[in-house]
Amino acid sequence: MAVTKPDFDVAIIGGGPAGGSMGSYLAKAGVSCVIFERELFPRPHVGESLVPSAMRVFRDLDFLDQMEEAKFPHKFGAAWTAEDRGAYDMNFQGGFKDVDVLAPESHVDIRFNERQQDGVDREYTYHVDRSKFDLMLLQHANKLGSAVYEGVKVNAVDFEAENPVVHFNMGRNVKDMGVSARIVIDASGRNTFLGNQLKLKVKDPVFDQYAIHTWFNNYDRKVFAKKDEHRDFIFIHFLPISNTWIWQIPITGSVTSIGVVTQKKNFAKSRQDREAFFWGAVGSRPALSDALRRADQMHAFKDEGDYSYAMKQVCGDRWLMIGDAGRFVDPIFSTGVSIALNSSRFAHKNVLAALEKGDYSRQSFSEFENKIRLGTKNWYEFISVYYRLNVLFTYFVGDPRYRLDVLKLLQGDVYDDAAPPVLQKMKSMVSEVENNEKHPWHKLLGDMTVDLFREVSA
Ligand SMILES: Cc1cc2nc3c(=O)[nH]c(=O)nc-3n(C[C@H](O)[C@H](O)[C@H](O)COP(=O)(O)OP(=O)(O)OC[C@H]3O[C@@H](n4cnc5c(N)ncnc54)[C@H](O)[C@@H]3O)c2cc1C
Repeated sequence: MAVTKPDFDVAIIGGGPAGGSMGSYLAKAGVSCVIFERELFPRPHVGESLVPSAMRVFRDLDFLDQMEEAKFPHKFGAAWTAEDRGAYDMNFQGGFKDVDVLAPESHVDIRFNERQQDGVDREYTYHVDRSKFDLMLLQHANKLGSAVYEGVKVNAVDFEAENPVVHFNMGRNVKDMGVSARIVIDASGRNTFLGNQLKLKVKDPVFDQYAIHTWFNNYDRKVFAKKDEHRDFIFIHFLPISNTWIWQIPITGSVTSIGVVTQKKNFAKSRQDREAFFWGAVGSRPALSDALRRADQMHAFKDEGDYSYAMKQVCGDRWLMIGDAGRFVDPIFSTGVSIALNSSRFAHKNVLAALEKGDYSRQSFSEFENKIRLGTKNWYEFISVYYRLNVLFTYFVGDPRYRLDVLKLLQGDVYDDAAPPVLQKMKSMVSEVENNEKHPWHKLLGDMTVDLFREVSA
């Protein structure tokens, strides 16, 4: 029996960083592909600070010149601050087995150029206005040859057909349309289109974080900058409220994105509205609160919830999930966009080989699945250590023996090492602190106490 030729080789659901980069990789390789995006771009989106591993994707896609022309702020590094309340000062004689205990700083910073990263030849990455960045990347995919249907929301994928059929509605009379492809790639973000349809989503048992954010004009970024160059670093401000922190991300010379991330239960318990909760949390850091009160809030507060989950499978016969559609981990280390872009970097190779061989079985995408699971496992463990004992993070950054290994993780260089030694070390130190009630850090342990280091997946 003759095999019917599908409309496209690959259909991609979603035109964010995952979909835009996948469309670009595939179109660049001459594959016929289509991207369905339910919104009309530009549209705002959370997730504005990148990590350096994004840079090799931009380089692969000949997209670096456009990033420069867009004049996104260059991100040379990152800084973390805590109120200098003496919480970390200590007089602990016990020590860890092979580490001297030093009082961690209440300000630490790193520069990405302290460590050479394979495939990355610049000392910086970017902070981006996502409405502009996502549009540019989607247009880039289109220029390279990918078809793009905007304002088209995918309703269902029929995997029973000879080639999967992507269904969506068109026009005022709501006509059901179908487009066939050999492979369907879900890049629908936290909407997790295929994860819902195929019932593969697993809610994260540990992280139930919630964020409230907006942009401010004329916020004085010098307030926390120890040096002039820190003005355009990302800042993470620790709050003296359990599992709560604030991001400070430059969007332009004068516009700054500020977001409070907390545990959902903290927000629910407070019985406050978003605005009151935001200002209450910010108020625990007076210098930050004063600087923000002097600035102009540009938009209403927006919130994001329910955002940590995994999938039992991230690929199957004729389908893959990339970016947030396949997994979401807490954004404390600015990982999301980089994971989305690197999902495309790994997955497109398997997709090209599958098309070449005509073998679209799950097995064809296993290399991608292994890589992405390894990378997100490393991020997840790093994030778990951070939440369990965040003083440990500043401590490791400050210790020259571990600094570059931590930097490797912060650069997004997480896809090669099955068990990074620095993570093993951090985990064993957490255990020591947990088991020693007299340790001065014991009282600083966070309350996320379930088996933190177990990967959330089937
Ligand atoms: C509070 C918070 C802070 C964050 N901070 C950072 C940060 O600083 N740095 C960072 O890198 N990441 C951050 N992230 C993560 C980042 O937002 C995401 O990881 C990133 O946007 C993932 O890209 P994506 O392309 O997978 O998904 P998205 O960017 O969400 O794109 C998915 C696209 O699919 C479209 N879509 C959905 N359903 C359908 C459908 N049925 N049909 C057609 N189209 C559809 C959507 O409209 C959307 O445009 C943060 C996330 C949160 C929640």
